[in-house]
Amino acid sequence: MAKKQEQKQKKEKREQKKTAPNAKKIQEQKMQEHEEDILHWADHIAKEVKARVDADPKLKKLVEKQGFIVYDEKTPSGKIHVGSGRGWIIHDAIAKAMRSQGMQATFILSSDDIDPYDKPNKELPSDWDKYLGMPFRNMPSPVPGYEHFGDYYFRQATEKFGELGIEAELESTGEQYEKGIFNKAIKTILDNHQKVQAIYKELYGEEAGGANKIPFNVICEKCGKIATTRATHWDAKKELLAYECKDDVVKWAQGCGHTGKVSPYNGNGKFPWKVEWAAKWPSKTVVCELAGKDHFTHGGSRTCAVKISSEVLDYPPPYPSTRTETGDGYEFFTIGGQKMSTSKGIGVAFADITNYLPPKIVRYLLIKTRPHAVLSFDPCKDDDIIFLFDRYDETERIYFKKEKASNPKEAKMQKRIYELSQVGPIPKKMPAQISFVFASVVIQTGLNEEGALKILRRLGHIPEDLEGHDMHAVMERLHDAKRWVERFASERYKFEVQSIGHAIKLREDGLIGEKERKALLMVAQTVKKKKWDEKALHDEFYHICKKLNVDVKAFFQSAYKVLINKERGPRLASFVLTLGDRAVQLFENVA
Ligand SMILES: [Zn+2]
Repeated sequence: MAKKQEQKQKKEKREQKKTAPNAKKIQEQKMQEHEEDILHWADHIAKEVKARVDADPKLKKLVEKQGFIVYDEKTPSGKIHVGSGRGWIIHDAIAKAMRSQGMQATFILSSDDIDPYDKPNKELPSDWDKYLGMPFRNMPSPVPGYEHFGDYYFRQATEKFGELGIEAELESTGEQYEKGIFNKAIKTILDNHQKVQAIYKELYGEEAGGANKIPFNVICEKCGKIATTRATHWDAKKELLAYECKDDVVKWAQGCGHTGKVSPYNGNGKFPWKVEWAAKWPSKTVVCELAGKDHFTHGGSRTCAVKISSEVLDYPPPYPSTRTETGDGYEFFTIGGQKMSTSKGIGVAFADITNYLPPKIVRYLLIKTRPHAVLSFDPCKDDDIIFLFDRYDETERIYFKKEKASNPKEAKMQKRIYELSQVGPIPKKMPAQISFVFASVVIQTGLNEEGALKILRRLGHIPEDLEGHDMHAVMERLHDAKRWVERFASERYKFEVQSIGHAIKLREDGLIGEKERKALLMVAQTVKKKKWDEKALHDEFYHICKKLNVDVKAFFQSAYKVLINKERGPRLASFVLTLGDRAVQLFENVA
């Protein structure tokens, strides 16, 4: 028995030994998971990109030279819509997160200005159709003062970057071709064009255009179009590309019939889009490039680019892709409930985004939302906008430790969201806060910013000598609230404080009951007696109603009728205090 017992103990010990390191490992894993859990998505991506680079000696060497390149591009075919802004703020946040982790990181946004003008821009008259098929950078600007067509539309969006705190190095893809940045990739792709064709065949079938053509579009030396040329032969030895400029290459532009032979290097042409996407990665040492989920569909452009990058150019595709996985794109961002799309010609332009929301709130919205979550914002939905401003204020209070988060994890997250949402340096102390709805009441009562400031001072919400960043914060909030009331708010949040004449007329016309008039007079006398706070005054309303046997609902309705000629309005006690003498006079005159 004893022996058996001993054996059992030995066995248990062995088991323990076996499980002990496992348990430790699990614990470590849990801690790691926990750490991941509390990381903001931008910090998480930065960390993951660094780990990838560290694990790839070849890539690491390149990054040591170039830094961490976070890359994005945009075709400047027309007004750039707000949906693109999501990617820019995501990439800006990732680059910022990388820098705060001590990595040398740059966000590069390139204008794909060597792409062809491929459909008429609806903003322009039809005589612009003669440029169809030409690269944007070789077309005139529709507005004087810009280098070319592409420059104009690209800058309409990027000139907003400073205001939105987006730090990006802006580039022209056409110029990169001209400078020879893509020359190496051009040679590799052309030398291996059968491999590229095989990838197209595998993904899209034998019939697909890319499965049969040499993947490079020369700019026709005769007519200047890039969409109408077809490469016919690559002479790898002489490094010359034979091409023809024909009518049957695309439906929407006509070729001139020219045939020729040119060097494909230094800006004489470009890759088709999917190949170009892949070629940019090794050429610019890109380690991170997200894109909208429409690019990440099964067999979509990202999948194709990933294969070309990995199998033909031997470069590891940037995060979130790997050599074998496409990864996921970010979700759409819409304003006004519809998917923003350039091709449909609808929706809000990126350049106009600050007409809807102030820059830091735009950033806040996009930073607090994970890239994989759909984001639609409707400025006409009262709750959307009020909630957004209130949440921002809450995050700010948590950052400055004026309010406790629900738990330490949440506190850390909110702090990081606040940091990444700021345009410019983070304030040293908490700026003065006026809640959004209250600001809308004050601005409508005070009629303008000056009047509103007077009210805020009288109520003790701001000190007499408010200045600097506090003054800036209050003025900004009043401005935002004013714009909301004027342009987006529903009737529920709008009002006009009435004149004494209105109160007198209500009395003369007998539109307010006698009991209610007495109650309102008592409110006026009560308010004059001493300084009230909102809660005490609210309770007092009920006392008065009880004392005079007035129906509470009728009392409130009468009060709003006298003050703003509506049946409902802002919270009454707070509103009466905001109105001050004005409310007293109105109530006295209706009595
Ligand atoms: Zn031509």
